[in-house]
Amino acid sequence: MGEFDQRLNNRLAERKKQGLYRKLKTMNTAPGPRVDINGEKQLVFSSNNYLGLANDQRLINAAKATLDEFGVGSSGSRLTTGNSIWHERLEEKVAQFKQTEAALLFSNGYLANVGVLSSLPEKGDVILSDQLNHASIIDGCRLSKADTMIYNHVDMIDLEKKLKEERSYQRRFIVTDGVFSMDGNIAPLDKIMTLASRYGASVIVDDAHATGVLGKHGRGTSEYFGIKPDVIIGTLSKAVGTEGGYVAGSKTLVDFLLNYARPFIFQTAISPASCAASSVAFDVIESSMNKRESLVSKVQYLKMNLQELGYHVIGGQGPIVPVIIGESQKAVSFADRLREKAIYAPAIRPPTVSPSESRIRLTLTSDHTDEEIDYLIEAFRFIGEELKVIT
Ligand SMILES: *Cc1c(COP(=O)(O)O)cnc(C)c1O
Repeated sequence: MGEFDQRLNNRLAERKKQGLYRKLKTMNTAPGPRVDINGEKQLVFSSNNYLGLANDQRLINAAKATLDEFGVGSSGSRLTTGNSIWHERLEEKVAQFKQTEAALLFSNGYLANVGVLSSLPEKGDVILSDQLNHASIIDGCRLSKADTMIYNHVDMIDLEKKLKEERSYQRRFIVTDGVFSMDGNIAPLDKIMTLASRYGASVIVDDAHATGVLGKHGRGTSEYFGIKPDVIIGTLSKAVGTEGGYVAGSKTLVDFLLNYARPFIFQTAISPASCAASSVAFDVIESSMNKRESLVSKVQYLKMNLQELGYHVIGGQGPIVPVIIGESQKAVSFADRLREKAIYAPAIRPPTVSPSESRIRLTLTSDHTDEEIDYLIEAFRFIGEELKVIT
């Protein structure tokens, strides 16, 4: 083996030793609760396809019709040859859905965060970022010329202290996940908005996990709290069921990003067919009150039962149900034992979460049946006793 490969292998060995080695699994079937992974039938309790739209016939039909007419690729960046009526229709749809003046598409949510945070806060500004924000927010802050300060997770006293102390900056931005991806809790956005207006700061919310799920029409945290943040970032890859990212806000904001956000300028546009499917998804989401209500009650039922078994379950109203197991090796063993019982829910380990808080991160979708949820609870009882997570 060459010296270069040797070096890479040493790094990989470190990961294996820490129980942090990652590898891919192959899905042999379409997304849904019942799939074939690596040739095994599994019940999935970890997908972001909260409303089952990734495999919804209405979205598939919209994509197919557009594929026939517009082809498979967009052929260029939005500013060259890649912009179609489908992109513009979807942006209108997103703005209407999020009740903002305008919206701008990105290739995915990751790049929407990177695009906003690397362009909007300038040198002389400061970004106040929640400790548990998504990796794409962290990477966006790293690319920004503004300073970044981390405030303790959802700690409004710490946030206010930092807003007070850092008055010498030209502009202060507060950035937060709407629903935290690994903990499942909802950011206290009502309080954040109050602090922001008191101290003249701008608020950027990443609503990746809230969109489609929170609020009567599924508009996300803005509807849930009745607030209007300056910048709303989102993804089409979770409850919306497709792919792509977006930023929603004022017309001026969109015009600014179109001119300054490098991930927008230098990336090929997503395909028109994908846009067509997403547009239909927003119609479906707005009218899916029953699905959302049944999802919430399923989540409550699961949490209550796991807590009765003695588990430390965290999270909020949303479909993310993290169950704390402890050390990363134990969480990995737990996930392995679940898989033997045909349940797919991976262990979340450091560096994603802190070392003693490795967890099984469960998510529910509206497609899970009551019987499947009971089967999951029974597996948690059995494995938890076996591995002495519960007594
Ligand atoms: C998934 C996620 C993203 C990234 O979105 P993609 O479209 O998958 O790139 C960004 N922020 C949060 C909070 C997420 O959970």
